Amino acid sequence: MPVYEFECPEGHITEDLVPMGTTHIKCAKCNKKAKKIISQCTFELKGGGWYADGYSSKGSKSSKKSD
Ligand SMILES: [Zn+2]
Repeated sequence: MPVYEFECPEGHITEDLVPMGTTHIKCAKCNKKAKKIISQCTFELKGGGWYADGYSSKGSKSSKKSD
């Protein structure tokens, strides 16, 4: 399971090991709802990555319209 950072309305940052898809936890310090902080270090999908290349082969069906 990945480690995520959560921030509550009081500004407390909590690092926790949670299942993927978890959007919030309870702050350990104030017991308020802490929201997951989206990481800034997203890897690049554009610009000749393997992911973009594999995806384009499947995307061709979108040009067809079954009207
Ligand atoms: Zn808090």
